[in-house]
Amino acid sequence: MLDTQIIDGKQIARECREKIKELIQREGLKPKLAVIQVGDHPASNIYVENKKKAAQSVGIDVEVYRLDSLVTEKSVLDLIDELNNKESVNGILLQLPVPPHLNELRLTGHISPKKDVDGLHPENVGKLVVGLPAMVPCTPMGCLYLLKKTLGDLDGKSALMIGRSSLVGRPLAHLLQAQNCTVTLAHSHTKDLPDLCRRADILVCAVGKPGLVKGQDIKEGSTIIDVGINRLEDGKIVGDVLFLEALGRAAYITPVPGGVGPMTIAMLLWNVVRATDENILNGKQIIPFI
Ligand code: NAD
Repeated sequence: MLDTQIIDGKQIARECREKIKELIQREGLKPKLAVIQVGDHPASNIYVENKKKAAQSVGIDVEVYRLDSLVTEKSVLDLIDELNNKESVNGILLQLPVPPHLNELRLTGHISPKKDVDGLHPENVGKLVVGLPAMVPCTPMGCLYLLKKTLGDLDGKSALMIGRSSLVGRPLAHLLQAQNCTVTLAHSHTKDLPDLCRRADILVCAVGKPGLVKGQDIKEGSTIIDVGINRLEDGKIVGDVLFLEALGRAAYITPVPGGVGPMTIAMLLWNVVRATDENILNGKQIIPFI
């Protein structure tokens, strides 16, 4: 039985926020993030409030624009235009999901690529694929950060990415390839997922199904990054991987909560800094401080 190490995302995110704060002070940056929230969804209210608090704690100014849930797409596009042209605003974040009458892709694609701190604009997606400096989605960057911090060099490792969303799975598969991992991208049509799991040195799961990955399918000595967030009937929050079964098999695993979640917010702050200073954006480091 291996002595599985739990990756402390909360602590690593705290260190990261501290370094971002120091960098903002040292370079005399005045970063500003504009957040657009459409409607009054309780979960979105909490997410926006958490992002705002975290940003302010490192010295990032935040403006929140709350729009009525029935707002027209034209009004949201007009607001994005205004913020694109506003010099004092460095980053723009549209809190997702938006109500169904709004076209999410059209809205995220309207944000200036330079201010696109969620990394969802097609220009940034394309740049990531061809290896040019780009704004990269926050959760994948947070996962890569945890992997590099835990394992160091990822060269030659077999990595299984389960889930192919634009927000997590696909960009992370590209980031892992850029680290010279041999990447398999699994999704809802994949045949024999357990077999793929048993071969993976690195297993990242971003699906949203509790218990999808079982202990018996985890390769001994592997590293597990569990992105999934699921609320069980008893109110408990769990990931996609059966955590207790993974103990003793994996070498390292992220807990849920307290693993990837805090890193997502820390990487949002890092993206705002990158959007504020072109030298940092064009620098070699996609992920900071490692
Ligand atoms: P999504 O619904 O957009 O994508 C889910 C993916 O899972 C799809 O690509 C689908 O093909 C795949 N999938 C579905 N069933 C599968 C199966 N049986 N086997 C293999 N693949 C399967 O979700 P998302 O936005 O990528 O989020 C995924 C999970 O990660 C959710 O639980 C979400 O709450 C969580 N999440 C967490 C953070 C964080 O900061 N911790 C951030 C984003 C998302």
